[in-house]
Amino acid sequence: MQSTSSELLSSMLDDLGDGFWVLDVGDATVVDLNDAAARVLSRRAEELRGTRFGDLLVPSLPPEGWRLLVDQIPHGAAHRVVVSMSRPDHQVVTELLLSRRTAPSAQERDVVVVLARPPRWSGRHDTSVHHQLFDRAVGLLDDGVALIDANGRIERATDRFAELVDLPPSDLPGRSIFDPPWRSLDEQGVPLPPEQCPPAIAIRTGTQVRGVTTRQPGTAHRRAVGDHRWVHVGATPLRDPTGRPDGAVLTITDVTDVERLRTDLDRARRSDQLTGLMSRTAIVEQLESVLATSEGTEGARVAALHVDLDNFRGINDTFGATIGDRVLSIIGERLHDLPDRHVRIGRIGVDEFLVVVRGDGPSAAFDARLRRLAEELQRRVEHRFQLESFELRVTASVGVARWPGDGHDAASLQRAADRALTAARRDGRHQLRFYERSIDEHTRTGLALDRDLRRAAAQRELEVHYQPIIDLRTGRVAAAEALVRWHHPEHGPIPPSVFIPTAEATGAITAISELVLTTVAEDLADWNRSGAFPPDARVAVNVSATEFTQRAFVEHLAGILDHAGVRPDQLELEITETLLMRDVETTVDRLEALDELGVLVALDDFGTGYSSLSYLHSLPLHTLKVDRCFVGDLHDGRSETITRAILSLAHGLGIVAVGEGVETEEQRRFLIDAGCDLVQGFYYAPALPRQAFEVFLADQAG
Ligand code: C2E
Ligand code: MG
Ligand code: MG
Repeated sequence: MQSTSSELLSSMLDDLGDGFWVLDVGDATVVDLNDAAARVLSRRAEELRGTRFGDLLVPSLPPEGWRLLVDQIPHGAAHRVVVSMSRPDHQVVTELLLSRRTAPSAQERDVVVVLARPPRWSGRHDTSVHHQLFDRAVGLLDDGVALIDANGRIERATDRFAELVDLPPSDLPGRSIFDPPWRSLDEQGVPLPPEQCPPAIAIRTGTQVRGVTTRQPGTAHRRAVGDHRWVHVGATPLRDPTGRPDGAVLTITDVTDVERLRTDLDRARRSDQLTGLMSRTAIVEQLESVLATSEGTEGARVAALHVDLDNFRGINDTFGATIGDRVLSIIGERLHDLPDRHVRIGRIGVDEFLVVVRGDGPSAAFDARLRRLAEELQRRVEHRFQLESFELRVTASVGVARWPGDGHDAASLQRAADRALTAARRDGRHQLRFYERSIDEHTRTGLALDRDLRRAAAQRELEVHYQPIIDLRTGRVAAAEALVRWHHPEHGPIPPSVFIPTAEATGAITAISELVLTTVAEDLADWNRSGAFPPDARVAVNVSATEFTQRAFVEHLAGILDHAGVRPDQLELEITETLLMRDVETTVDRLEALDELGVLVALDDFGTGYSSLSYLHSLPLHTLKVDRCFVGDLHDGRSETITRAILSLAHGLGIVAVGEGVETEEQRRFLIDAGCDLVQGFYYAPALPRQAFEVFLADQAG
């Protein structure tokens, strides 16, 4: 049964078009409602009568909540709340005006009359509901939030917002975001035009804008200049109930810490931890950008220098990665402050560096500058390393490629520098090569090298030549060094420094070694019979680590000598310092076995490696060969000192000293004065084919 009063109200309010509810004051049961109220919820009035009003709200309002709400309704006035009400498909935000009505008779219960209508989103003169909602929601956030009206004016902003844009809160209301009182910069620090800022876009297009990070510079009077805050800006457009754009909510989040972390990580990515030089990524980017800026510049020149440490792997293998790292970090320090300002340097491999040089002017002058720079790099690397008890010597080889000419972009320029480096390494240690087209042809040859090499060993394309070793006291041949020669049927002579490393890597060295040893044994046997070779002289053969460390090496060697009928003391094996230090236990084992057999051992290229001198006296070594880089460099005082030191060391240990690579009378004289025993070098003869060597011997004897 309906009360007269509610009937009256119902008919009145249906005319107004607003929703109208009559609820039981005790538990909010729906006593009555008009059709407009039911329509808002997409339901029919009959369905809703008798249900609990609190269940229609989102979140639902339990009876206790309802009682609290009822208590807030002032006598004789309406209480306003904004709630969400549930519809089958979504929710509607509704403004409720609640007022209490005392029952007209004792039989009836008191009711609460509710007027329900959409919140007044439009009509900016009445924004209090808006602001209540807004303040409550955003009070919880660490973000700065501002409400922007349809014209782009700041209606309201939180204190946090004011703080983030570095303005007093009272300065903000009424300011237009199209002429904002703050400045936004893009990621590069360039000011963003106001119409491209997120709130402007949101208002113009009615779409949500996310993920724009800008820098918010501090204004000079409040924060130190240059102190930028990184903020993340987003804007959500608002619409009125009819769907028309109606302003936007602007949020800014302080992401300065995140950005700082990102910059730190980026900096770490761009620099090499170990050496402090640029990282691979950074130096390659540098090359690309230098090339890009030089592209359109008249007379501009660029060069890429690929620098590689010659014997770094040996250091790592011998002394371990900790010492290896120390060496690299010292080299990093030495290369930091190169005298040339237009030079950048980065580490691109374990022991490889890329140097980028910018220049201009005539190519000859640029080349000369590059040569000076490369030599300076080599000099700095080569400076000796004093590490704990060791003293190491590292050398570097450099390949140079220039733009324009040797490459058209960063990748091709780097390739050219790399090929020049490969060519430099073919020449030995401590080399410098500029890229030339002919290098490419050589590289292509290299690919077929291994296949050809195996064939060469089988078909005896390889030949053994002998370089005489002269006794400085008597001037007579005291020994000869067997040096392998390869005469390639198409490519002509290929030096052992090119093919021996390949052969070691691919295993072809075993066949080569077999060939050299049997040839030497047979030649010695022939000479013993003919008397062409002095009976107390010996032939020195180079052995590589691969062969030397093989278990059966010494027995195999004994077998070859025995087969040919040659005395073991007519043979000397040359081993390198690297080999000696690589696996000391195995090496000592082999050396003792060789000693027992009666084969002599020489330490080759002495001074270029890094053998611990303390080992020398305990090893059965017969000969020490002073590397030819010292002999060739005798005008340099340092080489002279080193040579003297090596010679006196050898004498102290009762070891025969050989000076390698004697080319001039001056060098020969120096070595005689310094007390060197034996010498070999072009001054006397290069390595000669067997027949020519026999002629040399005959001339000497005669
Ligand atoms: P190495 O054992 O130090 O040989 C001496 C090198 O110095 C030889 O180079 C020789 O031709 C060169 N030489 C001699 N006198 C002079 C001189 O007055 N001036 C200059 N500039 N150079 C001189 P080669 O024949 O090119 O051999 C290079 C390296 O290849 C050798 O260095 C050796 O380590 C290796 N090798 C040569 N033959 C064999 C071999 O049969 N087996 C192995 N495992 N390695 C070999
Ligand atoms: Mg040698
Ligand atoms: Mg040598």
